[in-house]
Amino acid sequence: MRHINIAIDGPAGAGKSTVARLVAKALGILYVDTGAMYRGVAWLAVRNQVPPDDERALLEMLRRHDLRFERDASGELAVVADGEDITSQLRDPKVSETVSKLSVHPGIRAWLTRWQQAFAKQGAVVMDGRDVGTVVMPDAAVKVFLTASIEERARRRQKEFTDKGFDVTLQDMREAIAERDARDSTRAIAPLKPAEDAHLIDSTGRSVDEVVEEILRLVERVPHE
Ligand code: C5P
Repeated sequence: MRHINIAIDGPAGAGKSTVARLVAKALGILYVDTGAMYRGVAWLAVRNQVPPDDERALLEMLRRHDLRFERDASGELAVVADGEDITSQLRDPKVSETVSKLSVHPGIRAWLTRWQQAFAKQGAVVMDGRDVGTVVMPDAAVKVFLTASIEERARRRQKEFTDKGFDVTLQDMREAIAERDARDSTRAIAPLKPAEDAHLIDSTGRSVDEVVEEILRLVERVPHE
């Protein structure tokens, strides 16, 4: 595989991680879920009762604790906090509620962006998030901005939660997603928005496979240098 970097951004519940994971698998390259990295910081903040609006305390927490991101055997990232693999705990509603509050801080973003850019430099990656095409990998060969209607996104997230045994209503999901989108889109630094050269894909009513195929076609069209 050539060193092609693929950026997939979009709002919560648009299907980014499902699609990004499959694209990475098809190409045999690393999948980097930047949302999981922000969630790793949020998990530590919840665990240590650090208020998400206190950037200084959060940065101090990152100095005291060993939060790292490691490529696991399946070619994905594991989030490891003080030696404990916390990857499976990152979708906890408490973490979801906290994460967009702390992702507004420039120091937190800079800390995570350094990790993300290091992964992109090491080899070909598919990276998904909010600012991957605009800030983290502005030179990515393929940039996608993936959206879907809020109803469909709320339904998908509700299913994700109920599959994991969390009890949430569609209305709760819709409100939580709308609140997170608003916070992510209006923050001063690295807000959620499509890169100018991003391909817009609306996944409403489309299957995962269709969207994956469309992205793989974009990858095939990248000219050889
Ligand atoms: O993608 P996911 O829903 O897991 O992201 C969780 C949160 O992390 C987002 O709502 C956003 O606040 C933050 N985030 C971000 N920049 C990224 C990825 C995620 O600010 N590149």
